[in-house]
Amino acid sequence: MHEGSFARAIILTASKEAEKAGIKEIKRIKVAIGEIHAVVDEFLITVFDMMKGEYGLEKASLEVEKIPLKVRCTSCGGIYSPEEPIFLCPYCGAMGGEVLQGEELHIISIEGEK
Ligand SMILES: [Zn+2]
Repeated sequence: MHEGSFARAIILTASKEAEKAGIKEIKRIKVAIGEIHAVVDEFLITVFDMMKGEYGLEKASLEVEKIPLKVRCTSCGGIYSPEEPIFLCPYCGAMGGEVLQGEELHIISIEGEK
């Protein structure tokens, strides 16, 4: 249950970025979150909505884009999407792999009024 710290991090980063971009009132924040972080979108949005008032972001809504996890097997080079936290190649049975995508954690865009 780490959605709370994710929501806070998003709010703080977005506020800083908005300030830099000259946005006075944030309307929408879009974030990319890789599957590896095991964040529940709906829960993250609920927590975000609960917290945003404290930071003066009453008007902001959060949109989450989930990035599926993709791993390349280090033995056979096969690319797969593991469903378990342990990477097990479905092609050759080897353990471990290189993460190609799914570790993302960043803000895609911030919309608002200047
Ligand atoms: Zn393999």
